[in-house]
Amino acid sequence: MRIPLVAGNWKMYKTVAEARHLVSEMVPGLQAVKGVEKVLCPPFTDLMAVAALLEGTDIELGAQNMYWESAGAFTGEVSPTMVAELCKYVILGHSERRTYFGESDASVNRKLQAAIAHSLNPIVCVGETLNENEANQTAEVVHRQVRLGLAGTDLSVASAIVIAYEPVWAIGTGKAATAPGANAVVADVIRPALAELFGTAIAQSIRVLYGGSVKVDNAVEFFTQSDIDGALVGGASLKVADFIAIAQAAAK
Ligand code: PEP
Repeated sequence: MRIPLVAGNWKMYKTVAEARHLVSEMVPGLQAVKGVEKVLCPPFTDLMAVAALLEGTDIELGAQNMYWESAGAFTGEVSPTMVAELCKYVILGHSERRTYFGESDASVNRKLQAAIAHSLNPIVCVGETLNENEANQTAEVVHRQVRLGLAGTDLSVASAIVIAYEPVWAIGTGKAATAPGANAVVADVIRPALAELFGTAIAQSIRVLYGGSVKVDNAVEFFTQSDIDGALVGGASLKVADFIAIAQAAAK
């Protein structure tokens, strides 16, 4: 059975003081949600402060990115060793990183291997752009991103990976995919690609989230789909009541 997971991607929002305030308000309600894994992914600068506030709770911490080298002369980067000191999860290959910071399937794969080597659980983002969607290339693009992004992963650790299907045109636009449409991509493209890599049993054990304008109003529709196991939430994860309500919707 796949335990539902709801992760909040704070993107580049919240100073330390703002993060402390948001988390203090969110913890009681979020902790009351059972049967769902809940993850907060603030900016790097907030991680220590948020980690302190989450101590003793069942809410997990995630980073939004990392570099693949363990240490070295890589000014401005953060290593898997550093992330693993504080976090259980790390988001890799978010479309904003692919679009604005030149991340590729190859760099996502290097980061994924490094994350696994440091016992971090990667949340690997895949999804087609609007142009690719309109050119009917969704299946080809998403299949390639899964195959190349996860290539070379040992079968024994594959179940620790989480995939987030995030159509780029749905992120931050208020225009979510339809729930059956997103489910079809997960069931017909992502799980088969995972099965090619790891076999059917492991492919069925890997959690696949939907991301892209998930809100309180549409969350249940996504979570009742056969192959969607939760959500990666951007904008709505910064609103206390909304993120708690989305987590509640994921509790089955
Ligand atoms: C995201 O940042 O991954 C995301 C899905 O954002 P939003 O929910 O705001 O569309």
